[in-house]
This record gives sequence, C-alpha cells and structure tokens, in this order.
Amino acid sequence: MIPVNSLQRHIQPLADRLATASRAVIDSGYFVLGPHVQRFEQAFAAYCGVRHVMGVGNGTDALELSLRALEIGPGDRVAVVANAAMYGTTAILACGGTPVFVDIDPATHTMCPKALASVLATGPIKAVIVTHLYGRLADMASLLPLCRKHGILVVEDCAQAHGARDISGTRAGAFGDIASFSFYPTKNLGALGDGGAVATSNDAFAERTRQLRQYGWSAKYVNELAGGRNSRLDEMQAALLLELLPELDGWNERRREIANRYSREIRSEALALPPACGGEHVAHLYVVRCKDRDSTREQLASMGVQTDLHYPIPDYLQPSVQGKADASPLPCTEADARSVLTLPCFPELTDFEVSTVIDACNRL
Ligand SMILES: *Cc1c(COP(=O)(O)O)cnc(C)c1O
Repeated sequence: MIPVNSLQRHIQPLADRLATASRAVIDSGYFVLGPHVQRFEQAFAAYCGVRHVMGVGNGTDALELSLRALEIGPGDRVAVVANAAMYGTTAILACGGTPVFVDIDPATHTMCPKALASVLATGPIKAVIVTHLYGRLADMASLLPLCRKHGILVVEDCAQAHGARDISGTRAGAFGDIASFSFYPTKNLGALGDGGAVATSNDAFAERTRQLRQYGWSAKYVNELAGGRNSRLDEMQAALLLELLPELDGWNERRREIANRYSREIRSEALALPPACGGEHVAHLYVVRCKDRDSTREQLASMGVQTDLHYPIPDYLQPSVQGKADASPLPCTEADARSVLTLPCFPELTDFEVSTVIDACNRL
C-alpha cells in the first residue's frame, strides 16, 4: 500500500543528526525556554520575515494565544472558514468569542473574499482567521485590503503552509497582524512531538503572547495578564526543529514537484484536480474532488493507494458547536465536505510510487 504519509521514511535519514541534537539538550541540563528555543525562535522569525516568533505547546494553543494577544474575548465575533477541521473555531470558542462562518472559494478551498464581504455586512467582526489550507496561501491580495478597510485584525493559520510565499516573496505568517504555526509531526515542518509558534511583527502582540504562554507573568510569579496558561515549546523540540528547518525548502520543493506531476498527468473523469502550482503552494496535502467518493476510495485502495479525507464535517455541523454559532449552510464548504479526497503526497515518495498513484487514478 502506498501510504498518505510516512513519518518513519521522513525522519529516518536524519536520525543520527537528530540523536546528536537531543544529546546536546540532555547534556545541557536546560529543558524549558532555554537557548535552543531562543535560537529556533530567531531562526524561524528570520525565515518567515517577521520580527518575533514565540514557541508554544502546539498549533491549537498558538491560535488561541494569537486571539488572546489581540484581546478577543466574550462577545467578539470572529470570522473563520468551516472547512479546516475545527482548529480556528475551537480557539475562538475557547476565548469566549463567537465564530462567524465564511464560505470558501471552490477554486482554492480557502476563504472567499466575496463571502467575507457579505458576512461583514451582517454585523461587526473584530478579527478574521485566514487558514492557508492544504499548503496554499489564501487570497491575501483581496482579503487584506478588505480587512484593513473595515479595521479588522487578521490572524493567519499557517499550520499547513510553512514557507509558502507570494510573488513578492512574502511568506505565510508575514501578511496579517499575527500568525499561528503547528509543528505537529506530519506538518511541512514537524517536530518529534507537539509544538507550535506564534509569529508577529507587532511588538505589543509579541509581548502579550510571551506573557500568555507562561501563566500571564510579566516577571517571575507576577501574574499580570488574565488568560495566561502554560504553553511552551520545550528545548528538545526546539533543538530538533533547528536541525529540520534548513531542510524545509527542499522538502516543499519535492512536495510541489509531486503535486504538479499529479496535476499534469492524472486524466480521470472521476477526479477534479487542483491546478499546477508555484511557490504560493507548499503542497501540504494533495486534495482532489470526486463525484462518488466512497467507490473511488475503494477502487484506489484495491490498487494499493491509500487515501484520506480532509475534512468530512463542516465546523458548524460538529456536535460541540451546536447552539454556539450560526449554522446557516455554506454551499461550497458542504460540497467540499462530501467530495474531497487526499492522495499520498510527502517528500519521500519515490518517482515510481508517484507514477503508481497516477496510473491507479487513470484506471478509475
Ligand atoms: C494541525 C493544524 C492545527 C493545529 O495544530 P496542533 O499542533 O495539532 O494543535 C491548526 N490549524 C491547522 C490548519 C492545522 O492543520
């Protein structure tokens, strides 16, 4: 079976380097918010083109702390897409805010600027979470001016888009007011455990995030900010991420190469493909649409190709959201939930495996 992803194949070639890096942490005797975290934060800030990066516990915390840094709280309405597996919605609800769902542009699976404009007409919105889904930058050229015009803060969810950049070279995380990243192992830049980061060029938002991730402390044992907690990237993960960061661009290039082969060489009536892509897409997931998903999945499995679903349930239909947000149907979001199918796409796939996936799709 060709898997959708293989972390063993991803990490094994780097095992010796990673073991040496772990050993250095063990020998240092410094395990939380120490020199490796500081070095990683600086390196990742430079990579993304922002002034500040704060390492935190995971990507979901990164989103919530971003919202709290922007002072989102009870009564605040925050716009978000409903096709990104609940991460943004969970963070909004955790802050006491109200998620306001915005439909997607079917061409990109990301927030539709026209749909956002009509949501803005329904009432005040304090912030928007823009998710760069599947590795593709959302339409920032349209979304940003719209948000600026209405004085709306922009949070980028970059958990699937480390390194994606527009034609001017601006990278995911450097467009909005604040951005969240996840280093969950399967992400384009993944640790060997949980990890996340908040990125911003705003000094005040950065300072608030630094306090919020450590009990709300302004100084040791001085709990200045309410809403603080413990959410810190640890030294071990930071040391491993420092080894992995230099590999990110090469991995993204290989992911894109695989995605573009699929887009050029799959010719099946049963599948609708995303267009070939450039630097704006880091091919975190290669997602197609199918007319009859269950039978397509079964056929591909019988030909040795594993598939997955990202994601099958719109946020506003999730049991935990019932009664906490407007659940008016979003047609493009619901069409995606019924039809999306993820094919194997990770840097270590061999050319032969990629050809095998293509042949299987072309036999559907
Ligand atoms: C993975 C992911 C997150 C959450 O990250 P965790 O580290 O798993 O909490 C948030 N948003 C998106 C789009 C993701 O893919």
